[in-house]
Amino acid sequence: DAKSSGNGTLTLFRPEMDELYVAEQSLMADLRLAIDNHDLMVVYQPMYRPDGSHMECCEALVRWAHPERGWIGPNIFIPMAEKMGLVSWITRFVLDRACRDCVAWSGLTAVSVNLSIADLRNDDLVAYVAEVLERHSLQPTRLHLEVTESCFMDEPVVISGVLNALRASGVTIAIDDFGTGFSSLSYLDSLPVDVLKIDRAFVTNITEDSRKLKLLNGIVQLSRGLGMKIVLEGVETREQLALINQHQFADLVQGYVFSRPIDTSEIARLSADQVSRKLSPSVRRRRKE
Ligand code: C2E
Ligand code: MG
Ligand code: MG
Ligand code: MG
Repeated sequence: DAKSSGNGTLTLFRPEMDELYVAEQSLMADLRLAIDNHDLMVVYQPMYRPDGSHMECCEALVRWAHPERGWIGPNIFIPMAEKMGLVSWITRFVLDRACRDCVAWSGLTAVSVNLSIADLRNDDLVAYVAEVLERHSLQPTRLHLEVTESCFMDEPVVISGVLNALRASGVTIAIDDFGTGFSSLSYLDSLPVDVLKIDRAFVTNITEDSRKLKLLNGIVQLSRGLGMKIVLEGVETREQLALINQHQFADLVQGYVFSRPIDTSEIARLSADQVSRKLSPSVRRRRKE
């Protein structure tokens, strides 16, 4: 049988694969119902200044509360949604929530939303973004959109055109998971982006491995030279954070060291606290008069 070909060639069929296939099909069917049933929700992970003094913005991350299976993460269902042609539907949902919620966060600069390659190929994206900003009266400068570098590989001219149209409307574009794709650093300069989110893979081990630290330093210096704002993703420990501060590696830090993803009411509370802390007593007094 195909199972024991033994020389590393691909196994063609096994009963377990059939079960996996059936499970995926049934999950896909469930996904079609999930939005109508209000089973998708959005949580937000703060991005802080590296010294922790200020939460500047946060990233919208989608979650699926499956009625039988519990929480399912986006790494599972976004690829499924892409295969099913449902991803722009999810993007619209997340954009709507994120813009609505951000209006209530007085102390935050912006909310950041992830896009898929399918969104960038969709002719309606630019119009939809304008419409959702309008619907919630959110200033375009308060919306950031994240795209992975692999998005530029397919049709760089088309994709750059879409991103430039979004930027022209005032929206900020960030490259997500930077360093995990295949684009060379020299290519960076030609991309229409403002923010670079450096992947967790470049942060893990910087405290133990001096070569990792040098690698991160190189990426940071180069992208700074190109005028990019730098976000470090996946910062988990105090030790990592101390090094990042010492070397001034980041404009913003996103990771468990500051906060896990939380819901909009918690972001609103943190944001309001921040605003009231910033107003010194004398300013408050003047405001009252
Ligand atoms: P991402 O955009 O790179 O988002 C960051 C991911 O890293 C999130 O996982 C977040 O929970 C996780 N993370 C943050 N800080 C830490 C840390 O310190 N340590 C570790 N180990 N992980 C950390 P999440 O929410 O499971 O999302 C996974 C990916 O799914 C996202 O990666 C993004 O590519 C995609 N995704 C999430 N929401 C959406 C969405 O609304 N639309 C699209 N198209 N993709 C989405
Ligand atoms: Mg992201
Ligand atoms: Mg990321
Ligand atoms: Mg990531």
